[in-house]
Amino acid sequence: MGTTTSEEQAVVGAVNAKLYIGGDWRDAAKGGTLAVDDPSTAQTLVEVPDATPEDADAALGAAADAQAAWAASTPRERGEILHRAWRLINERVDDLALLMTLEMGKTLAESRAEIVYASDFLHWFAGEATRIEGGYKVAEKGGSRVLVMRQPVGPCIFITPWNFPMAMGTRKIAPAVAAGCTMVIKPAKQTPLSMLALAQILEEAGLPGGVLNVITAQSSGAIMQPLIADPRARKLSFTGSTEVGRTLIEQSARQILRVSMELGGNAPFLVFEDADLDAAVDGAMVAKMRNVGEACTAANRFHVHESVAGEFAQRLAERMGAMKLGRGTEDGVQVGPLIDGDQRAKVEELVGDAVDKGASVLTGGERLEGRGYFFAPTVLGDIPDEAGLLREEVFGPVAPVKGFANEEEAVAAANATEYGLVSYVYTRDLQRAFRVCEALEAGMVGLNQGMVSNAGAPFGGVKHSGVGREGGSEGIDEYLETKYVAMAL
Ligand code: NAP
Repeated sequence: MGTTTSEEQAVVGAVNAKLYIGGDWRDAAKGGTLAVDDPSTAQTLVEVPDATPEDADAALGAAADAQAAWAASTPRERGEILHRAWRLINERVDDLALLMTLEMGKTLAESRAEIVYASDFLHWFAGEATRIEGGYKVAEKGGSRVLVMRQPVGPCIFITPWNFPMAMGTRKIAPAVAAGCTMVIKPAKQTPLSMLALAQILEEAGLPGGVLNVITAQSSGAIMQPLIADPRARKLSFTGSTEVGRTLIEQSARQILRVSMELGGNAPFLVFEDADLDAAVDGAMVAKMRNVGEACTAANRFHVHESVAGEFAQRLAERMGAMKLGRGTEDGVQVGPLIDGDQRAKVEELVGDAVDKGASVLTGGERLEGRGYFFAPTVLGDIPDEAGLLREEVFGPVAPVKGFANEEEAVAAANATEYGLVSYVYTRDLQRAFRVCEALEAGMVGLNQGMVSNAGAPFGGVKHSGVGREGGSEGIDEYLETKYVAMAL
């Protein structure tokens, strides 16, 4: 077993490592299991069920059966369940953080931050449940009345990634619950434990059986494709890579599903010559090193005015080079391992490609030998235009720094990507700030701050980074249909 202390064994042992279908916790139909490993030791923590297509079908059946009654529940009731779950999560944050660190690798401090962030969605949408509005007006030419109703979309399918094992779930579950939708969720196979723990909490908070169904599986495609093609499903919300998202949009076309897609990013981080350089380096540390760089919002490339690029890169290299790596559960550790060997190999390949093409290594640049999938925090300078790092999402602790000559060139470089999730801008010039924010092709901009995630704000991307928004007052719209009634008086 990958657990080393009794406390670790206790938090893993407290998880109901089963499928959650129709309010029952059960094994997979054929009894299969899949191993959940600790990425800092590469050892198995526990086995969870490997759902079959029959299990997935049962989960969607349970969601479909529960839909009508759940849609008829009161907004107050739905809000109170979310609020109770929010309170329970915050009471158990330490245990939940340890569980997340064990399955995902990030440090305990980062896991705690994610759990608080994840719970913020429950809190926010507990309020939104009671603020679903409709409309009533006199028709433009008189005669009839225009009545507009907002109603739940219906049973939803959710697929989430491993990098934020709980928050990527609550961003979907909370607005769906608030709107009166039922759902089937499939977390990533590497990190199913946080989602199962969340389901236990929602059950304890009073969520009726069948509203939320959780399936864990080894072969995502084989399990999810039949569900997406099933007429009982009305919506698909996915967070993950652009490549998989594109396939899922194609699959969704068959049943004309409503889709929300939170996909990949390639965030530029712009530092202008008038920026507060201390603040920019602080912001860069957050934008780059949060979650070991395994975040869709991670700054992927740093475009810095040539008058300050050298100093910025040097200061960033000093800060990143001084970070302590290790198992996320250990005191003082600031950087955990990457999720698995494939992810580390990809990071290594992108760094090698940049160096081969002429980039200089200011710090890091290589993997750490030994157990776990560690890669040293890396800052690269002299980045050639052909480096793959500028175009591909690195998803690791690597910061390429490239100079620019003027604002026009900076904006053009920032937008030279098919992605458009988030951009970061550091400047003290108010007019430039507005100008650049308007010109950036991104769903979100961090202006003089290195983090944009906030349950009360609309999170999402443009271009190949996705469609739809999660969080904010926009977040619940993804789970509501609009019905117009023409009323003759
Ligand atoms: P991924 O490979 O696309 O996987 C994401 C989820 O999709 C996992 O649950 C995976 O299951 C499942 N999946 C994979 N292939 C599938 C298929 N053919 N049919 C149905 N489900 C399938 O992405 P990842 O590597 O886990 O996550 C990293 C990516 O997510 C990055 O690109 C990152 O930018 C993006 N991301 C975006 C946001 C955002 O809000 N925009 C947030 C976080 C992450 P298994 O893992 O079990 O196979």
